[in-house]
Amino acid sequence: MELRAPLRNIDEMVSRTKDIKYLSMKKDISVIIPIYNEEKIISELYWRLKEAVLKISPNYELIFVNDGSRDASLLHLMEFAKQDDKVYYINFSRNFGHQIAVTAGLDYCSGDAVVIIDGDLQDPPELIPELYAKHKEGYEVVYAQRSQRKGETFFKKITAKMFYRILRKITSIDIPLDTGDFRLIDKKIVEYLRLMPEKNKFLRGQIAWMGYRQTGVEFVRDERKYGKTGYSLSKMINFAMDGITSFSDKPLKYVTKVGIFVSFISFLIIIYALISHFLLDRAITGWTSLIISFMFVGGIQLISVGVIGEYISRINKNVLDRPLYLVQNTNLKKES
Ligand code: UDP
Ligand code: MG
Repeated sequence: MELRAPLRNIDEMVSRTKDIKYLSMKKDISVIIPIYNEEKIISELYWRLKEAVLKISPNYELIFVNDGSRDASLLHLMEFAKQDDKVYYINFSRNFGHQIAVTAGLDYCSGDAVVIIDGDLQDPPELIPELYAKHKEGYEVVYAQRSQRKGETFFKKITAKMFYRILRKITSIDIPLDTGDFRLIDKKIVEYLRLMPEKNKFLRGQIAWMGYRQTGVEFVRDERKYGKTGYSLSKMINFAMDGITSFSDKPLKYVTKVGIFVSFISFLIIIYALISHFLLDRAITGWTSLIISFMFVGGIQLISVGVIGEYISRINKNVLDRPLYLVQNTNLKKES
């Protein structure tokens, strides 16, 4: 397959897109694949997806969402789309993030069953028929559960493990442990997801929140073969905060409780100081005790303000109500 050099000329790209525009029609199965700098594996991904989905039905669509890749991923996608009418792409105007990329795919897809899968082949496409079989048994959500995570750093594994356990504790929803977004969902779930207005997407939480019949299929998560993770530490922290703030207001309540506790302690210290001064005639001296208590209370206050800030910034984002993503070009027309 011949590929041109990375596109410098956007007009050329858009004009190339114009000749290939399909109208999305009813499909048995849609696969949504977010793509961020995956040029090295994108061909293997495409072929493996095709083979796996063909085992289910010839009436399918592959929706690739190019999330502002800086490599030739888009060119590959456009090439696939040219030769294969099952391939659709949505090209974002910049990098909007993994959850938003999946959301765009959900906005456009038209399958009765919809699979969300990572584009780095860490989620094996070969598991899709298995997910589909469970769906046929009557489950609206079939998530792929990692029985093992290969080749990920100790830090990532331990923080992910801690995060999901904390999230389970402080939210009332039952998010299955050790699952990512790799899953199959029914059309009904997709429709409800479209109705959920929040700007800070935490799809696995939203899906768990919905209930219905959900089940898991176990698999071994492979390591990333090429490239590096698109989730930087700051993206990971933001994602974790989105998960917590969208599903729990317990941090705000903890802040109040910590405030009451600290006030109580300081009240005891005041009593102790007064008794020492007036009854025992002994003044408490010392710079050290002063600075320690000062810093302690200062720290608690800053953390509390930070917690409140996390909620306020999310309220702000929702009030602004900007579009979630901007599409530069696509060969997919929304059903209306
Ligand atoms: N991804 C994306 N936008 C981003 C980061 C990642 O669309 O800003 C895609 C990426 O191409 C991959 C999936 O999201 O298909 C999962 O990302 P990644 O493998 O980097 O995350 P990890 O597996 O390390 O959690
Ligand atoms: Mg990955």
